[in-house]
Amino acid sequence: MRYGIISDVHSNLVALKAVLGELEGRDIDKFVCPGDTVGYGPRPNECVRLVRELEPVSVVGNHDVAALDTAADEWFNAMARAAVVWTRQELSEGNSEYLRGLQPVAVFDDVTLVHGALAPDLWDYISSPWEAQPTFEAMKTQLCFVGHSHFAEWYELRPGAAVPLQVGATSGRTLTFTNGVRYIVNPGSVGQPRDGDPRAACAVYDTDQGTVEVLRVPYDIAECQRDMLEKGLPSPLAQRLGLGV
Ligand code: ZN
Repeated sequence: MRYGIISDVHSNLVALKAVLGELEGRDIDKFVCPGDTVGYGPRPNECVRLVRELEPVSVVGNHDVAALDTAADEWFNAMARAAVVWTRQELSEGNSEYLRGLQPVAVFDDVTLVHGALAPDLWDYISSPWEAQPTFEAMKTQLCFVGHSHFAEWYELRPGAAVPLQVGATSGRTLTFTNGVRYIVNPGSVGQPRDGDPRAACAVYDTDQGTVEVLRVPYDIAECQRDMLEKGLPSPLAQRLGLGV
């Protein structure tokens, strides 16, 4: 079985299409989405529609929740909030309903799926071995996919080890499983990478090979930036796409 992992699309249709084009040639049996299909970018409806058509195993992200509920954006910074308020007005009833139907945690095929972290809080970021630890303690599967930080990387916890090991996968890298070792993998963000590589990120999980390949896919960043400015979205959100931060 080969899973295509697409996280944090953030309404970036150009990046999503590029990633799906790349995955088309890679024999994907099933898609997995760790959330945040909307927020920040200019094409929320098109992105949700495309993702829905893939019928992925999916969980809800914090921007998805905030696009449905005015109370959920309180802790967002001003630009993220401006984008989510705009997204809330744009989203069609059907697409809102799809996002509303997503659960915060999913388990399939010895894999746990959550947007932020399993513990201590669902919207916590996993950006260090110490932040990964509570999720390792809470997960009952060998593998967990997360999103949220927009960093392509993984954490591995060996039997008896006190602290997980953090492994960067910024420019693309393949993880090969070792028996008894457990993993938390962030495939990076399709639509707003923050790990210094502006190319769209995604991953392929191959259950037969026991591998997760993190990929980087170039896309027309300028096209998305133009679209954002035309829609009146905050210009720093457009600029950061060019830098991958
Ligand atoms: Zn996100």
